[in-house]
Amino acid sequence: MRVLVTGGAGFIGSHFVRQVLSGAYSWLADAEVVVLDKLTYAGNEANLAPVADDPRLRFVRGDICDAPLVERVVSGVDLVVHFAAESHVDRSILGSADFVLTNVLGTQTLLQSALAAGVARFVHVSTDEVYGSIERGSWPEDHVLEPNSPYSASKASSDLLARAFYRTYGMPVCVTRCSNNYGPYQFPEKVIPLFVTNLLDGRKVPLYGDGLNVRDWLHVDDHCHGINLVAERGRAGEIYNIGGGTELTNRELTERLLAAVGAGWEMVEPVTDRKGHDRRYSVDITKIGTELGYRARVPFERGLADTVTWYRDNRSWWEPLKERAELVGK
Ligand code: NAD
Repeated sequence: MRVLVTGGAGFIGSHFVRQVLSGAYSWLADAEVVVLDKLTYAGNEANLAPVADDPRLRFVRGDICDAPLVERVVSGVDLVVHFAAESHVDRSILGSADFVLTNVLGTQTLLQSALAAGVARFVHVSTDEVYGSIERGSWPEDHVLEPNSPYSASKASSDLLARAFYRTYGMPVCVTRCSNNYGPYQFPEKVIPLFVTNLLDGRKVPLYGDGLNVRDWLHVDDHCHGINLVAERGRAGEIYNIGGGTELTNRELTERLLAAVGAGWEMVEPVTDRKGHDRRYSVDITKIGTELGYRARVPFERGLADTVTWYRDNRSWWEPLKERAELVGK
């Protein structure tokens, strides 16, 4: 079994790769893993350091928009798990060209090559943000797509391409749509690692608007567990929501992060709200639970405490990233 993981040097993709190579997913216990990653500002080979010496891992630095390269890499692959994307909403508001290129054209290039190579299974990793914003209740998978940011619009476009490759060619594609992930190795521009690393440095944290936007928090390990279930047993052509079951306003999340590092509300700096800021996301995860037996296994309190500890213990991982990158606050 050979698995191609695009974006495998990013936050979630690298967790998936580390899990596969550590034997966490029994049906992939002997799998070879090929990572295809462009190493943008968000990609980091250090994320794969714990498995770098594993002979079953091959790393290819390259762009998913590069069709000749993708054709070579996808040849002989049984399963594609497609994480590669431009993933930061704030950056998409500043400029969306890279989002359209990677998320739309890159996904099309990958689907086309995987089709030609006869890949047996393709999991396209998407986001709940494609559904828009919901005041009450939760979105089922067949909810209309109403993306509000350039990021989510580009992801929705890629979801539609995945659907089209199933409908047109019968390609065995599944789409997953998850809520907000957190955990170790997350680039320190996203809210949890940004806030934690700022607070560990004695710096203030920027809280958008009234802080009442609601997000459902999903530990990266639960997300990858869900993706693994879909890869193994998901029905071709189907979409599966993956959620964590912990909805918090950004104010509530901030309070928990302040408590975790022993800081007070004076460390919070209210900032002008993000343009078009979605108010609430909430996915209905009945389908993946009923069909594939998924449930979130990491309690939020423990997951958050472990994450804070990880950032406390791994300054050498995030300090260079914060220094180097031109960070866009979240
Ligand atoms: P990330 O930004 O940490 O990682 C993205 C990876 O893709 C990086 O390693 C980057 O180098 C690589 N990449 C970017 N453009 C590329 C290209 N053109 N060719 C090859 N590689 C490229 O993102 P993440 O948080 O790990 O997210 C992974 C996937 O999950 C994305 O598709 C994202 O839309 C989706 N998702 C993430 C979240 C979240 O909370 N982080 C929530 C919902 C969905």
